[in-house]
Amino acid sequence: MAGSAPPVGSVADMTGFDTLAIHAGQEPDPRTGAVVVPIYQTSTYKQDGVGGLRGGYEYSRSANPTRAALEEAMAALEVGARGLAFASGLAAEDTLLRTVCRPGDHVILPGDAYGGTFRLVNRVLTNWGLEHTPVPLSDLDAVRAAIRPNTKVVWCETPTNPLLGIADIAALATIAHESDALLVVDNTFASPYLQQPLTLGADVVVHSTTKYLGGHSDVVGGALVARNAALGEELVFHQNAMGAIAGPFDAWLVLRGIKTLGVRMDRHCTNAARVVDFLTTHPAVGRVFYPGLPDHPGLEIAVRQMSGFGGMVSFTLRGGEEAALKVCERVTVFTLGESLGGVESLIEHPGRMTHASVAGSPLEVPDDLVRLSVGIEDIEDLIADLSQALA
Ligand SMILES: *Cc1c(COP(=O)(O)O)cnc(C)c1O
Repeated sequence: MAGSAPPVGSVADMTGFDTLAIHAGQEPDPRTGAVVVPIYQTSTYKQDGVGGLRGGYEYSRSANPTRAALEEAMAALEVGARGLAFASGLAAEDTLLRTVCRPGDHVILPGDAYGGTFRLVNRVLTNWGLEHTPVPLSDLDAVRAAIRPNTKVVWCETPTNPLLGIADIAALATIAHESDALLVVDNTFASPYLQQPLTLGADVVVHSTTKYLGGHSDVVGGALVARNAALGEELVFHQNAMGAIAGPFDAWLVLRGIKTLGVRMDRHCTNAARVVDFLTTHPAVGRVFYPGLPDHPGLEIAVRQMSGFGGMVSFTLRGGEEAALKVCERVTVFTLGESLGGVESLIEHPGRMTHASVAGSPLEVPDDLVRLSVGIEDIEDLIADLSQALA
């Protein structure tokens, strides 16, 4: 079996993030000179004699050149040994957890984990014998106290969804490693442009590439990046054995997206900061959740481990749930919808939409909360839209 595909390009002489985003794994096609990695829409590969593989490719569940290019680019952007691309963020998470854990093992989850992550562990992997404890990750003593002899993974999200909490990645890595557990960081909200968890001691980074990496709300995908090659190879084995791979076209869309990740994230960050300035002084708005606010308890950590505060902003309405629903329905530039991280601004009501499945659980969110994924449109139009919707 072609367990791992050969590298498509060389990143040895590239260092800048934007250069890597455009070129890592994405050398011009050696046969035609095509500047963009082609969509290798093929399931199988001609062998030159039995077992004579050209370039290591045998069957596209095991490896595909378009997916290999994305996997190499992801490894470069997250500064890891091995990248892997999956059909969705949750497919990546499922493969990861069933690679590093065995039935009877225990996982620490963020108290406000992404709802789908919580559901995967709480409703699916529980039946497989995985134990879990939700813990507020900003409380390091609580994390230490929750570690058990069978704890295999500390699962971290930072910033969190939808309340934009911040966890200290380096401190969590120390705690996890003292107990021979792995630190996994879901880096979907920050993207590797703003935060590189493997450089802070994390063992594996998880992405929903559906969000900022894809960046255009046109693909569902996931990725893992392992810090060390041995774990990377175990993940490659399970990726092939379990089969939840990214298809060639989806891999190509994410590759296309990440070429502009840097410029998009800069604009997401500046637009979100302007939206926060507007919201914090608006009389209809209650609390604003954004890691760059001076009263945010995680500000100091965010400044230390992130190079920007990202494009996500949540806020409560003084008028309660009714007012929150009204804002969501009155906007015209923002689009009412789930997901995040695309070029277009999105608005949603977590209590009734993305977080409806966690109602009644420890992850329940306030019903007067609205979440924004601030896009890269003209900031004047975004503020005018929020202004009329809040009036
Ligand atoms: C969307 C999301 C996921 C799940 O990814 P899918 O691509 O929807 O499967 C996981 N974590 C976070 C933080 C997300 O926003």
